[in-house]
Amino acid sequence: MNVLVINCGSSSLKYQLINSDSEEVLAKGLCERIGIDGSAIVHQPAGGEKVKSETDMPNHTKAVQLVIEKLTDPQVGVIASLDEIDAVGHRIVHGGEKFATSVVLTKEVLEAIEQCNDLAPLHNPANLIGINSCREIMPNVPMVGVFDTAFHQTMPKKAYLYGLPLEYYEKYKVRRYGFHGTSHDFVSKRAAELLGRDIKDLKIIVCHLGNGASVSAVQYGKSVDTSMGLTPLEGLIMGTRSGDLDPAIVTFIAQKEGISAEEVIGICNKKSGVLGLSGGVSSDFRDLGEAAQAGNEAAQTALETYGYRVGKYIGAYVAAMNGVDAIVFTAGVGENNAQARAEIGKYIGYLGTNIDPEKNKLRGEEVILSDEGAKVTVMVIPTNEELAIARETVRLVQQGNMCCAYA
Ligand code: ADP
Repeated sequence: MNVLVINCGSSSLKYQLINSDSEEVLAKGLCERIGIDGSAIVHQPAGGEKVKSETDMPNHTKAVQLVIEKLTDPQVGVIASLDEIDAVGHRIVHGGEKFATSVVLTKEVLEAIEQCNDLAPLHNPANLIGINSCREIMPNVPMVGVFDTAFHQTMPKKAYLYGLPLEYYEKYKVRRYGFHGTSHDFVSKRAAELLGRDIKDLKIIVCHLGNGASVSAVQYGKSVDTSMGLTPLEGLIMGTRSGDLDPAIVTFIAQKEGISAEEVIGICNKKSGVLGLSGGVSSDFRDLGEAAQAGNEAAQTALETYGYRVGKYIGAYVAAMNGVDAIVFTAGVGENNAQARAEIGKYIGYLGTNIDPEKNKLRGEEVILSDEGAKVTVMVIPTNEELAIARETVRLVQQGNMCCAYA
């Protein structure tokens, strides 16, 4: 089966065409600046060069059209026609409490997703636009939605409730949802495979460290806690996001600076994290590492503060699960950045992790960092959210009942 995986943002659309039998990526690409001047599609067939075409993309429907054109192009395409796309898997950011698993996208499901829009006003409307654009162009192709929040729906109340008046949960569903669920699920399952153990016997902590970053406690295959909350702003210090704060800081800064609370939240989302902490050096860990090495003290402090926060979360989740068997690093920073991993390693040695500094230098591949016989195994496992979405899509499509999906 060929599955087109779509990850649609407000002005961008990432895609991968995956053959689900061989799990090979046939082609992938990105439409950027949709609805903005200077829009372009970057397409790359497997084993080929990236091809960038600057083309007008006034909306997402046009972007999907261009994706299909590229996929079926005689030169850079990988399929002969639209008929060779058997299903589409969509990444959807917020499924609220309504979606604890992936779903076939029916009219009712789309309405239910729309009801989650106010929980993720930046992401969900864009995801829905992507879905509707694909439906316009491929009305008979089955589509599946895979939610970032679904994996964490197994959290117990004690982990997802905030210490607020209960009425806000009851009235508005203010609670911890958590994100990156597809990645935490994929990586924890792979960790169990690599350890040759049944996931139902394991306590795993997954550190998904990308531009956005979150830690999760996966006990016996189920998420029991995670660091992101109602929105993806809570938890770790990220590329540009502050993570945990005293909530009183928001109005304090608003008053001091003469700006609104919304504007402060905007700063917490876009100008904080290691970017803010480093005094604006960069949100990218490669730049930060270089700056720190060149003697930039703020960049060095940003890296130390980042590692310390991750270390504290790991400690908290060891307590949450009353133990841990494996700690896994994944995503851009987790997979590639030895310095960040070493920084975090300073706070977890007491668990008996025995990280080998030589192995820690490896990047971008599956590797066990701990010495053999370590009490807790620390590993790096590259995440693959697109493949996880493709697998989910195939699973649901093969369950059948796809006819009249949009009736
Ligand atoms: P997201 O998917 O959340 O946008 P990624 O998972 O791609 O983010 O992670 C981006 C981060 O990964 C950046 O901060 C970047 O510095 C870091 N990163 C990516 N590749 C490398 C590398 N080779 N060495 C060090 N850091 C890297």
